[in-house]
Amino acid sequence: ERLTIATLGSHSALNILRGAKDEGFRTICLCRERERIIYESFGVADEIIELGDYSDLLDKSMQDELIEKNAIIIPHGTFNAYIGRLDELRVPVFGNRVLMLWEVDREKQRKWLLDAGLTLPRTFERPEDIDRLVIVKYPGAKGGMGYFLASSPEEFYEKAKQMVEKGLIDAGDVENAHIQEYIVGANVYFSFFYSPVFGRVELIAVDRRYESSADGLGRIPAEQQLKAEITPTYTVIGNFPVVLRESLLAQAIKAARSVVEVSKQIAYPGMVGPFCLEAVFDENARMVVFEISARIVAGSNVGIPASPYSYVLFGEPMYMGRRIAREIRLAAEKNMLEEVIY
Ligand code: ATP
Repeated sequence: ERLTIATLGSHSALNILRGAKDEGFRTICLCRERERIIYESFGVADEIIELGDYSDLLDKSMQDELIEKNAIIIPHGTFNAYIGRLDELRVPVFGNRVLMLWEVDREKQRKWLLDAGLTLPRTFERPEDIDRLVIVKYPGAKGGMGYFLASSPEEFYEKAKQMVEKGLIDAGDVENAHIQEYIVGANVYFSFFYSPVFGRVELIAVDRRYESSADGLGRIPAEQQLKAEITPTYTVIGNFPVVLRESLLAQAIKAARSVVEVSKQIAYPGMVGPFCLEAVFDENARMVVFEISARIVAGSNVGIPASPYSYVLFGEPMYMGRRIAREIRLAAEKNMLEEVIY
């Protein structure tokens, strides 16, 4: 029976649904009323199912309907953020569910990246240990609202107090900060794909983020920056494509391969499909990785219909949404579906 590709209408759904159509699948977009306009405008969903809230996807009747329609769900950032309860989902999901749970846990992520031998920003256990520029992250601070920079313990407590006053963090949370060395450099996000069908790691696209207000600060003279006491925030507004200095690709590809190797020890069968390494290249062009996402990231949207890398690799338009659909199609043809769907 014909397979259907379904995803939540958010994040990278246009990418995923276009890709599914390019590979000949039927598509379903599950979205809220307020986002419906997006998916109607682009016509990439054969069917739009409206949800009161994203978590309605877990309702028994909704799951039964999707299973009935032979749907495979493609998870993305919104999916992982709102539907953390992956174990309640009976509909087949593309990718490794255990790794998706690892990526939303800062400590587990860190262990994974360290085991892969990557260079990570130093972390500081206690605010008293701060001896250089650090970025302070709070668990609930989505998109960096409530993140701040500090260079000393005194500055840490002063800024934390301001964050509490602004209502961005709870007073009780001040000590629960994740304090990380701030790496000054060029941010680069790598969208990779691990293909069980071909048994290889593929570089599909590279981007950097356009973040408010961090990217707006440079447009204001230092004098005004000082007077206005602006704290940079990192709300993602969009992404730019990046083409790397070619020699730097060696570090990135090696990092991706070892992340995949370690993933096999974390949860059988290891990484399946898209993942992203978020890095900063410092002044010595050293790659410091500060985060991993074990799913498609929105930055891969810059690679529709092809990024320079996916084009070099495939010799045809290829982008993350299409790459996922291609993998599902090839796996179905080769009787390998159970190796990509969990
Ligand atoms: P997401 O989950 O969407 O990636 P997040 O809320 O977990 O976001 P981070 O990715 O940890 O936030 O950080 C947000 C932004 O802060 C990054 O895109 C980057 O610009 C900056 N940043 C984070 N950590 C560091 C670091 N150690 N050094 C320099 N910049 C950093």
